[in-house]
Amino acid sequence: MTKRQYTILVIFSLIVITGCGGPTSVDFQPADASGNVGASEPDDDGFVWQTEQFADLKIVRYQIPGWEQLSQRQQALVYCLNMAGLSGRDIMYDQNNRYNLRVRNLLENIYTSYKGDKGTKGWGKFEVYLKRIWFSNGIHHHYSNKKHQPEFSKEYFNHLLSETSLVCSDDLMEVIFNPEIESKKVEQDGTLGLVESSAVNFYGPKVTTEEAKAYFASIKIEGDRSPVEYGLNSRLIKTESGEIVEEVYKIGGLYNDAIEEIVKWLNEAQNYTENEKQSIALAHLIDYYETGDLEKWSLYNINWVQDTEGDVDYINGFIEVYNDPLGYTGSYETVVEIKDFEASARMQTLMENAQWFEDHMPFMEEHKKEEVVGITYNVVNVAGEAGDASPSTPIGVNLPNSNWIRQLHGSKSVSLGNIVSAYDKASGGGMLSEFAHDEVEIKRVKAHGTLAGKLHTAMHEVIGHASGKLEEDVDTPKETIKEYSSTLEEGRADLVALYFLLDEKLVELGLMKTIEVGRAEYDSYIRNGMMTQVVRLELGDDIEEAHMRNRAWVSNWCYEKGLSKGIIRKYVREGKTYVDITDYEALRGLFGELLREVQRIKSQGDYEAAKNLVEGYGVKVDQVIHKEVLERSEALDIAPYGGFINPQMESTRAESGEIISVDVTFPDNFTEQMLYYSSQFSFLPEVNSIH
Ligand code: ZN
Repeated sequence: MTKRQYTILVIFSLIVITGCGGPTSVDFQPADASGNVGASEPDDDGFVWQTEQFADLKIVRYQIPGWEQLSQRQQALVYCLNMAGLSGRDIMYDQNNRYNLRVRNLLENIYTSYKGDKGTKGWGKFEVYLKRIWFSNGIHHHYSNKKHQPEFSKEYFNHLLSETSLVCSDDLMEVIFNPEIESKKVEQDGTLGLVESSAVNFYGPKVTTEEAKAYFASIKIEGDRSPVEYGLNSRLIKTESGEIVEEVYKIGGLYNDAIEEIVKWLNEAQNYTENEKQSIALAHLIDYYETGDLEKWSLYNINWVQDTEGDVDYINGFIEVYNDPLGYTGSYETVVEIKDFEASARMQTLMENAQWFEDHMPFMEEHKKEEVVGITYNVVNVAGEAGDASPSTPIGVNLPNSNWIRQLHGSKSVSLGNIVSAYDKASGGGMLSEFAHDEVEIKRVKAHGTLAGKLHTAMHEVIGHASGKLEEDVDTPKETIKEYSSTLEEGRADLVALYFLLDEKLVELGLMKTIEVGRAEYDSYIRNGMMTQVVRLELGDDIEEAHMRNRAWVSNWCYEKGLSKGIIRKYVREGKTYVDITDYEALRGLFGELLREVQRIKSQGDYEAAKNLVEGYGVKVDQVIHKEVLERSEALDIAPYGGFINPQMESTRAESGEIISVDVTFPDNFTEQMLYYSSQFSFLPEVNSIH
């Protein structure tokens, strides 16, 4: 039983005992004294990465590395794109469910005007309910899709209403308290009626699944080799006369008031674009918002994939279709990104030295490339997010979604670097002190872990995947080692990174100051591969995912090979299992030995050897260890889902209106940011359709 379920049971039994009549609900009793729950300790620079935790959610902050390296003009561009993004915030609420804006506005009004006792259990539960709605842009859980059930009583809610002289209509009361109403955001079970049972607002209440499918089939052009993304920017409704029509998101159409604001800011962004390509792409996006024409959206995407030269980039539009049970309509989403200057410099250094690494691989000579070229990868840092991407955010983006545009014009794939490291910093602490075997290890990971992780990624991508060659007449790994090819390739790239992370060459190249960085990565990698990564699996499950498999087979193979010399020691202290690397140089030797063998398997296409390695070391989980890991991590009470507070930007304008500077601060209060957004960016009426 989880802690939360336990709490609910206790409350329930108290209500039963105290009976009825008067304000008897437990909600009126004083809350247990508790400060801010779940905030992390400030780091060495005094920055608090995680500010709070509630329900199954944690709130994290991120910084914008590289912001100071942008010119004033580029900062102004980021600012305008950010304002454009936030201007559409309410669209996401309304897309998620047609009651969302009404519920949120009512709750926010209560929150800001209630002057009664805020030290009660009821108020605490009311706050959590409102914060959960902010977190998921509506009344449904962002991940499970289930409706949030308030944990406070109706009686307590009525008390809040009467104290604030606010009114909750009967239908809203049902939406908030009746679990049967609007119960699921997206229904995936076809037998229940995908459209009828989904609470998303992409279809009018009278539209059936059959009618929607028939409509979309009717507008598709047979044989079109460059189809638009049908239905991407509209809600489907049934008119009085029974006709199915699209209400298009555009200026003059649905969500007009917010889209006008978006376009206003995109137009201003045009004053600060970095180059012609960026400017052309942006013009197509504006054109698309003004007309709702999906041909223009295609044109925008074609131009956007070619806009790669600037330091600033962005995603803006109705993008991912996961929230639509039929997979047509896109959720409003924006991400503003700047180049990760540090990662780019790191990648440049590795590219320039790719041949040195190839020549020094522990491979058999015939498996080395005479001329190797490193593989580039893209990391950006997020400067602001809105809509579907906020507060809960993706950690990487690969767009556009249109297949023919990807094939003919390419795509952009980026990893959101500062978001990934903010997650690490926020949640790593608890797991680290629980599972690391001593203080030396903890200190080393805290001092060098972030750089170690970034270097590992860079080595894995730029040097690892690019390295090695097949023997003559050997087919591609997909054909020779088949189902094991991807985990083998990922493990190979990891091994390249690990092997060189203990090499003085990286210090010489200025990529790290000390070999301690490499040791920190060895500790983290082995601890994760032998123990902690299984926290993501249910007891009894095998490891399926390619990266998880490779981390297991790399770690477990090295453990076994080094067993007689005790290179990696596994021991139990006070009932808890720990792993400890006793000889880093010797472990490097094992990584090298395994790397040579994995390269041989790939170069010769040795299916049997690949199978033995992966099945022998990378699939099965030690059940005793698994159970222990689950119990120890559960006791840490780490919320599984993270969402982010965005940096706050303020501009200063010259008399001409030109933006001359942009100030960035990093707020640490989620509630304040949400209330601020609602006060500044509420452009939509509460009810957005007459249907
Ligand atoms: Zn990889």
